[in-house]
Amino acid sequence: MARTFFVGGNFKLNGSKKLIHEIVERLNESKLDSNAEVVICPPATFIDYTASINKKSPQVQVGGQNTYTKASGAYTGENSVTMLKEVGADWVILGHSERRAYFKETSEEIAEKTKFAIDNGLKVILCIGELLEERKAGITLDVCKKQLEPVLAKLSAQDWDKVVIAYEPVWAIGTGLAATPADAQDTHKEIRDYLKEKLGESKAESIRILYGGSANGANASTFKDKVDIDGFLVGGASLKPEFVDIINSRS
Ligand code: PGA
Repeated sequence: MARTFFVGGNFKLNGSKKLIHEIVERLNESKLDSNAEVVICPPATFIDYTASINKKSPQVQVGGQNTYTKASGAYTGENSVTMLKEVGADWVILGHSERRAYFKETSEEIAEKTKFAIDNGLKVILCIGELLEERKAGITLDVCKKQLEPVLAKLSAQDWDKVVIAYEPVWAIGTGLAATPADAQDTHKEIRDYLKEKLGESKAESIRILYGGSANGANASTFKDKVDIDGFLVGGASLKPEFVDIINSRS
């Protein structure tokens, strides 16, 4: 089944109102491949502003970079799903390797956040991926499976319609050393085969699996003919003009 090409922009802890204005205006004014679905994820403080100046909705949507498992209450510093939605987010990135590494988020917590976000109306870009030493040890798929297991345990089959998976090998993030299209395709296929085992053929075929890790305007089109690569989650390059080239890399 045809899966819609998806490009996410993860701004991480970057930007300012000025930069966000520039990025969104560029998207507003550019000719974007009409077959691409785009989600830009600024820091939470700028979601409201981003959504308010985005003229390309619904093709370009807005997302958060994290959320919490409670609707409200005494949880200083957190942002709830309802709040993210109220200011214009339709999506949230969960399980990013930086959240796992620096904020010690476990796969179980990420699974809980994923379920809570979906139950409360957000769609999820769920990130998984191995460290360099894990790749060298040949356990990439085991690591991805372990990260997916608690999510598979919590989500219903229909919940998966609200999820895209971003496979992001940690060694490729922010390093300029993207995985080769062939290597990424191998892992994407293994991930999809695992999803088939767990969710059945047709559901697994419907789930988009994005590649993330130093994707840029120059290399995006080299992933074009890889059948299990359904788009990109883009960090650094999502802040730059080449983000448009990534969005248009399939056209
Ligand atoms: P990068 O980041 O494109 O800067 O490597 C990707 C990500 O962390 O989502």
